[in-house]
Amino acid sequence: MPDRIYLDHAATTPVDPRVLAAMIPYYQNAWGNPSGIYMEAQRARRGLDEAREQVAGLLECLPAEIIFTSGGTESDNLALRGALASRSELGRHVISTPIEHHAVLHTLEAIKRAGCDVTLIPVDSEGFVEPAAVQAALREDTALVTIMAANNEVGTLQPIAEIARAVKERNPHTLVHTDAVQAAGVLDIRPDILGVDLISLTAHKIYGPKGIGLLYVRRRTELEPQILGGSQERERRAGTENVAGAVAFATALELAIREREQHSDHVRRLRDNLWLDLRERIDGLHLNGPVDFDRRLPNNLSLCFSGVEGESILLQLDMAGIAASSGSACSTGSTEPSHVLTAMGVDSDLAHAAVRLSFGAENDDSHVDRVAAELPQVIDRLRSLSPVA
Ligand SMILES: *Cc1c(COP(=O)(O)O)cnc(C)c1O
Repeated sequence: MPDRIYLDHAATTPVDPRVLAAMIPYYQNAWGNPSGIYMEAQRARRGLDEAREQVAGLLECLPAEIIFTSGGTESDNLALRGALASRSELGRHVISTPIEHHAVLHTLEAIKRAGCDVTLIPVDSEGFVEPAAVQAALREDTALVTIMAANNEVGTLQPIAEIARAVKERNPHTLVHTDAVQAAGVLDIRPDILGVDLISLTAHKIYGPKGIGLLYVRRRTELEPQILGGSQERERRAGTENVAGAVAFATALELAIREREQHSDHVRRLRDNLWLDLRERIDGLHLNGPVDFDRRLPNNLSLCFSGVEGESILLQLDMAGIAASSGSACSTGSTEPSHVLTAMGVDSDLAHAAVRLSFGAENDDSHVDRVAAELPQVIDRLRSLSPVA
């Protein structure tokens, strides 16, 4: 049996051995509760403080502006619910897009049921949001704008800095949040470069462990805690801190930023080569997301194949040793077409046939060659079986 080929790095990444090495001491030695006053606790406290300072140094912000959370989902929930709860007197209108991650979209639905107005700005056929359209949708009572930096399904990179500038120009009091979970390994996500007030990140998409994320909160931004209990994280997120996770996240972020260019070049080259091969070998192949490859995540290839179900392709690929997904881990198993492709105007038959290939550090040229050989065979086989083809 040949080795497995993992092409689902947008869903999660393996833990970098250097990250694992950094976190192990916090399970073996410095395992105390950071809130204690004795030596075991203080060792853990030091690890946590240092991790926060390291992250703040990398993002060029203050340590007090970092709240560690359990991941991207919690950060999105805290940003949206926390910001709105503390600003209800300023307004109850929120602006977003229909292609956000479910962590944002489902939270927006709950916020709407609680009485807020939500405006979703339409995206174009490549998934882009116009900064001018966001500006035009602002109202005096717009409390928050939340738009993702990079889309997890189709890889569209939004002009977040421009959007933030357009919002602040008209409405300085409106907060801007971005889910930068997918962008962290690829783009400059320093808050002052993006010009936003709130940023969600998670470790497991940048070769860190699952279950640790963070929310950057610009100083003097009021935020109502959503998890109540002890006074951890400056009373903005209760619960005994995930010290080993925070240390791991800081290490993963440091490596992601230090190796950003080299990593991006690596995955971009593999992705581009696979696209060129597949384009030659498969008819009825559609690229989802930006045609200009400089405006999409360098590791993302999202494809639709006319006349075949995405789910069948994924099962056949798995049997051939290749792990890929339909785009959104949360909708695997559902027969609904992707909300992202639908919002981009992709025809519903095609939207059922989406396959997302997302490259990572451990992929190499031999993986590209094997996928370029297997995938056309899988598509041919499925098309010959399918009466609708
Ligand atoms: C993975 C992902 C999330 C969720 O992060 P978790 O750490 O898995 O909760 C949120 N937003 C985007 C864009 C993602 O890709």
